[in-house]
Amino acid sequence: MSSENQLPLFELGEIELNQPSKNLIPTDGKLPIPPGTYDNLSELSQHCRDCQRCQLAQTRQHVVISRGNPNAKIMIIGEAPGQNEDETGLPFVGRAGQLLDKILDSVKFNREEDIYICNIIKCRPPNNRVPTPEEINACRPYLLEQIRLVNPQIILFAGATAVRGLTGDKRGITKIRGTWMEWEGRLCMAIFHPSYLLRNPSREKGTPKWLMWQDIQEIRRKYDELCT
Ligand code: SF4
Repeated sequence: MSSENQLPLFELGEIELNQPSKNLIPTDGKLPIPPGTYDNLSELSQHCRDCQRCQLAQTRQHVVISRGNPNAKIMIIGEAPGQNEDETGLPFVGRAGQLLDKILDSVKFNREEDIYICNIIKCRPPNNRVPTPEEINACRPYLLEQIRLVNPQIILFAGATAVRGLTGDKRGITKIRGTWMEWEGRLCMAIFHPSYLLRNPSREKGTPKWLMWQDIQEIRRKYDELCT
């Protein structure tokens, strides 16, 4: 074989190595997982469970992918799994999760039927530290695929890290919460993370809990307008 013929073959080999197939997860978190890689959420979950794209794979107990209804019209995206989530493999199951349930209940949302819940990253950062930009970027393609496959009408970002991680919006949560915004053609709203509400228990007018009550009523109103 002449050297002119060999070159295209080597190039082809390189392209194949850099393209994730259904059986090959790029272990380098900088390599892309293109939109459309997964046909369904169970294929995606299988990859996530084996994922080594960032350092959090070394310390996690479970990969925390989602809970709720994969056909839900509302997707809630939180920050990262905590200790309870790491132990159980399910998002929002600790005290913050119980508070989120109560908030959803208060306007008659059923968490298992009306909502799909996930996080910006799927493995617990040690000592619950804020995830690094590298970790968020490594995990981001999975989240984008979840959004594509669930196709929610409304996305709620629970906390500033969730907003920043997905949209790049660096404004503080108190500035942007409660306001509808558009991201990639989807209707979104930032809300307080329930952990923040646990640290600020007052229900007085103007406090975070009071504001959350206003926000969840507005979300219910919009849901009824668009989805029922
Ligand atoms: S956080 Fe995401 S990218 Fe990192 S190891 Fe877990 S699943 Fe993979």
